[in-house]
Amino acid sequence: MRKLLSVVVSVYNEEQALPVFYQEIKPVLEGLSWDYELLFVNDGSQDDSLRIVRHLAEQEERVKVIGLSRNFGHEAAMIAGIDYATGDGIVCMDADLQHPVWCLPEIEQRLEEGFGVITMTRTRNASAGLVKNVTSQVFYWVINTLSDVKFEPNASDFFAVSRQAADVLRKNYRERVRFLRGYVQNIGFRKTTIPYEALERVAGESKYSIRKLFAFSINTILCFSNLPLKLGIYAGLLAAFLGTGVLIYTLCTRQGAPSGYATIVILNCFMFAVLFLIVGIIGEYIGILFSELKDRPVYIVEEVENVCLGNKKGEREDAEGSAGKE
Ligand code: UDP
Ligand code: MG
Repeated sequence: MRKLLSVVVSVYNEEQALPVFYQEIKPVLEGLSWDYELLFVNDGSQDDSLRIVRHLAEQEERVKVIGLSRNFGHEAAMIAGIDYATGDGIVCMDADLQHPVWCLPEIEQRLEEGFGVITMTRTRNASAGLVKNVTSQVFYWVINTLSDVKFEPNASDFFAVSRQAADVLRKNYRERVRFLRGYVQNIGFRKTTIPYEALERVAGESKYSIRKLFAFSINTILCFSNLPLKLGIYAGLLAAFLGTGVLIYTLCTRQGAPSGYATIVILNCFMFAVLFLIVGIIGEYIGILFSELKDRPVYIVEEVENVCLGNKKGEREDAEGSAGKE
């Protein structure tokens, strides 16, 4: 029997890009030796995206639609796609053609060779400005310094996994605060990388503002490292060390209280700054714990097209959201 490749495409307000995307990807998919399914996950778009993908699904059975009940974010949309994908290999890619569709035959080839995880590494990002490139490098430097697991700096949300690797993602990586790209690199299996050049977005605008990326980066760092929690211990030790030094100095030189109002105020401010920073970090961890504890669904499916709801492979179906009409 022919093997099946599932292509998961997350869609959020991509009405301009979708027609071009489909036009480009269709011939490539038709040319593969594997059969394919193209899963569009509509992440609560407010524009005409859902209607467009629904229309495509009506014309072509292999085009499938999963409509989420609201915007859950790019990663949640990819997780939904992975959960419902039935292929022997699953590729996640964006709808804006920044991830070149002509890489698909090579991905299929690597899956055929038995690779479990295929990381697509960007050699260049045509549309990312200087700020995005520099902040991305800083982010990877920080996370690779703080975390035990190591991340490929040029990895993107363009990746492929075998069915076996996808099962691990479906069953064991269900955190509410997460970094899917990082998980994919750290689940093991036979790994390979394919370099590609990220193209300009074909139409529309990027949905990731610098502010969103910053919040995402902080969460990711906290998720993958406990080291910031130890900051309090180091700061405490440093303060104790400094205090002891000043005490010994004062005793040895038998000076009275030296005048130095400014020094005291500056030191006080500095100490409080460190203290509140540490309280803030602990607060962030508590926030993450709280959202994990609440165990809310990663995504909620409202409607599907050409998809059998029973196909869902993800664990804890009940907790992951219910579905409406089929
Ligand atoms: N996306 C999504 N949900 C969101 C934001 C984005 O599904 O909340 C999709 C978007 O439609 C696109 C992909 O995720 O297919 C990547 O988004 P974008 O191109 O805006 O990010 P960038 O490439 O600029 O990092
Ligand atoms: Mg993009």
